[in-house]
Amino acid sequence: MDDAPPGGGSAALISTVSALDLRIPKTMRALVKAEPRAGAELREVPVPRPGPGEVLIRLEAVSLCGTDLHIYRWDEWAQGRLGKYLPRIFGHEMAGRVVAHGPGTGAVPLGTRVAAETHLVDWTCYQCRTGREHVCANLKILGVDADGAFAEYMTLPERNAWPSEGLSPEIAAIQEPMGNAVFATFVEEITTATVAVLGCGPIGLMAVAICKFAGASRVFATDVMPHRREMAARMGADCVLDGAGDVEAEIRRETGGTGVDVVLEMSGAEAAVHQAFRIATNGGRVSLLGVPSRPITLDFSDAIIFRGLRVYGITGRQLWGTWYKTAALLREGLDVSPIITDRLPLSRYAEAFDLLAQGVAGKVVLLPQEG
Ligand SMILES: [Zn+2]
Ligand SMILES: [Zn+2]
Repeated sequence: MDDAPPGGGSAALISTVSALDLRIPKTMRALVKAEPRAGAELREVPVPRPGPGEVLIRLEAVSLCGTDLHIYRWDEWAQGRLGKYLPRIFGHEMAGRVVAHGPGTGAVPLGTRVAAETHLVDWTCYQCRTGREHVCANLKILGVDADGAFAEYMTLPERNAWPSEGLSPEIAAIQEPMGNAVFATFVEEITTATVAVLGCGPIGLMAVAICKFAGASRVFATDVMPHRREMAARMGADCVLDGAGDVEAEIRRETGGTGVDVVLEMSGAEAAVHQAFRIATNGGRVSLLGVPSRPITLDFSDAIIFRGLRVYGITGRQLWGTWYKTAALLREGLDVSPIITDRLPLSRYAEAFDLLAQGVAGKVVLLPQEG
């Protein structure tokens, strides 16, 4: 239907928009980064209108990511990246239902539960035209360069909506970070390989589970925090090590001196990056996903070249190959739900960010419709 939905509260929709037959209010609650300082504000803002190529989504679950914490804390990175955009609704790991179609959309039916591919790409640059959209030359990120998901409603290019029927909202939402883990893990073959996952935050923990599910022969996991090591064991790691200990000696001993076929560096910690190159077996591969906060000095000759290592920089996730792989893993029974430790209504965002900042939580999920 082309008319605005009944109920009087529908002025947010323009006549070219078709919408589900339910009340779409004029205004909504949204978590807004309004001022250039730490924190955020829950504000009443207009419900956005889906423009050409966009759909309107009623959000059900939004998980918190390290990027969101940078924005919340307003650290150096956030200041440089978002300073020009304030006020900005942030948050990007989302799930919700499509409730209105903007002009030129309709491929994803109204009512469909979707997750978001959070790379907003131009589809026209050299990278996009050669199957490398995740490193689009004009890449924009949802919740950073465009208003995001810590809200009751959001708009999204329909091309970025990933239908996720059959998944709970919270699992649908964490497909986005899981896609990072899938990309890092499957960039080369993993079956029968020995693997070390360095850093067991949520993405590292997902990687541990993915490696085991996909038939890695032995999975080592390291972290400096005891509760994360416990979680790694729970997610299936065969051998869990203290990242602050002598990881290289332990892995050499456990592998008969060989080292591991695959290293997934998920921490960004300088010590772990050095460990990564030392524990990879000659001719092995290293996937680097953790983002170091400072430049790291590395002896390329001895660490990489003479060892014959293959090194991958992992950013985001490949469109759409990793989404299909992620969906397949979830469909076939991979259970990542233990990684979700906390669920809070949107209004308790401060608590949610505290949990994340303390490093005690796994994935924290905000529920925008629950107050
Ligand atoms: Zn994220
Ligand atoms: Zn592009």
